[in-house]
Amino acid sequence: MVHFVGAGPGAPDLITLRGAALLAAADVVIYAGSLVNPALLERCKDGCAVYNSAEMTLPEVLAVMRDADAAGKTVVRLHTGDPALYGAIREQMDALSEQHIDFDVTPGVSSLFGAAAALGTEFTLPGVSQSLIVTRLAGRTGVPEGERLRDLARHGASMAIFLSAGLLEGVQAELLAGGLSADTSAAIVYKATWPDERVVRCTVGTLAAAGAEIRKTALVFVGRFLNAPYEKSRLYDPAFSTAYRRGSDGGEIAYLSFTEQGRALAERLRDALGGEVACTRDGVTLRDWTATHFPTARSLVYVGAAGIAVRAVAEHLVSKTSDPAVIAVDEVGQFAIPLASGHLGGANELARKIARVTGGAAAVTTATDVRGVFAVDEWARVQGCAVVGTAHIKEVSGKLLAGNTIIIDTAFPITGEPPKGVSLTNADAPDAWVDVRPHDGLTVVPRVLTLGVGCRKGTTRETLEKRFAAFCAAADILSEAIAGAASIDLKADEPGLLSFCAAHGWTLKTCAAAELSAVQGEFTASAFVEATTGVDNVCERAAVCASGGTMLARKFAGDGVTFALAQRETALDWRWHNG
Ligand code: SAH
Repeated sequence: MVHFVGAGPGAPDLITLRGAALLAAADVVIYAGSLVNPALLERCKDGCAVYNSAEMTLPEVLAVMRDADAAGKTVVRLHTGDPALYGAIREQMDALSEQHIDFDVTPGVSSLFGAAAALGTEFTLPGVSQSLIVTRLAGRTGVPEGERLRDLARHGASMAIFLSAGLLEGVQAELLAGGLSADTSAAIVYKATWPDERVVRCTVGTLAAAGAEIRKTALVFVGRFLNAPYEKSRLYDPAFSTAYRRGSDGGEIAYLSFTEQGRALAERLRDALGGEVACTRDGVTLRDWTATHFPTARSLVYVGAAGIAVRAVAEHLVSKTSDPAVIAVDEVGQFAIPLASGHLGGANELARKIARVTGGAAAVTTATDVRGVFAVDEWARVQGCAVVGTAHIKEVSGKLLAGNTIIIDTAFPITGEPPKGVSLTNADAPDAWVDVRPHDGLTVVPRVLTLGVGCRKGTTRETLEKRFAAFCAAADILSEAIAGAASIDLKADEPGLLSFCAAHGWTLKTCAAAELSAVQGEFTASAFVEATTGVDNVCERAAVCASGGTMLARKFAGDGVTFALAQRETALDWRWHNG
């Protein structure tokens, strides 16, 4: 029997428990001496025959395996990291199969993950990259067509490059040829998890120089995951509060408790609904905790007297369009009381969920709810829409509460029967609109637009904001309708653009020139843009490419910035209760 075992990246205690047990029981061990830490061999039992495969050919390795197996011995073939990556194990497995020798594989921690730990980073950051490309530079072993480093670099995804330590000039040239800008972040991790581990941070443009002294046992990483603070730092910047940030899926529930019993209830709620629990018994103060979480959390839940919560949030309350949901729950969970932002902020819905967990009751006090009357703002939230003209909510709800009918003028199809009191006929002036265009009144805004952006290198966030305001006015569009932004991959690291997007709560999707060129339709072509980017139009094509929708507003240019809008289809219905 032959056991292929992943040895892990270097540190001897990073082998798996199963791998360690197999190693301890083996009669014969063949280890990849060039990379496997010899300290692992201390686990072998007395009398175990140890071979270093660095000094052997494949037939020699196979011969050792065959002879040992024939003598009824157990063999461990110890590979660095995980054997499935550049481990050359397939050829060994095939040869063993041919000879009817049994084998199995025990995975290991790849050096890829050892290096990520050394970098203290995550490969898959929302809004930055959701893919990791594991590859190598073509060397003595070639790479198939379409997998050259330059082809892969075009995706702008996070990249881990193996087996290329002595070849950094080639790596650098390929990455640049793939369209990555010279200032894209890069890092070299030498001997991850070994005592002499080294991390060198650099950029694509300085890669070869930065790694000049590193000849082997290193991984090269490239991508914005290495330094993309934009989205997070802007989005969670406490000074920056908008209705977007607490949008339909952002933000967390923050619980504050004051006693051990309260803490236990908060933890029960957290286990059921997610979020983060704090307790004043651990030294946090009511005041500081509220000041920290009010601007960033989606919902604040105070496990204690309602009066405590009211006093704590009073000085922070601004408007129902931007305030978080505020809820008080008594220590035993008898009542969950939504105190602020019942509809738009989702406090009513969360209170109902809390009551379901505790077996108590939600003390909902908003008039529409207690009377079972349709609430436009609650409906908008459940449908994932923004609401503009919130000052008019009162009138609209007032009409419904008085038993009158309201007229909604919708630019989008809404499936199902309208609720009681809602009419879609246009006989009279509407009371509310469902549209991406501005109206003088309560407007429910589906987030269905993608903003395509092109900009000169170095364009500042201020310039983008100024042009954006002009564009929204010219296109007669509510910025609330925009769900995200899109551009060409050359702009994936453009700082002004990234902070502009983050400030609006949008992620920036970027597409390669080839993808943009492949988009079908009529676009505003420019020879200048084609010469600099390789595609005749960026903003319109990017908007259509990223949204999968259709053009809504064509290229709007000025100050080195271009904007366009595409609209995707949406499916609205009349559901207005989740909880
Ligand atoms: N199967 C192994 C990779 C074997 S190929 C794994 O999963 O990690 C050998 C290459 O792996 C080296 O050229 C180097 O690029 C990388 N490598 C292996 N161990 C490493 C370590 N501790 N630190 C950085 N790179 C390492």
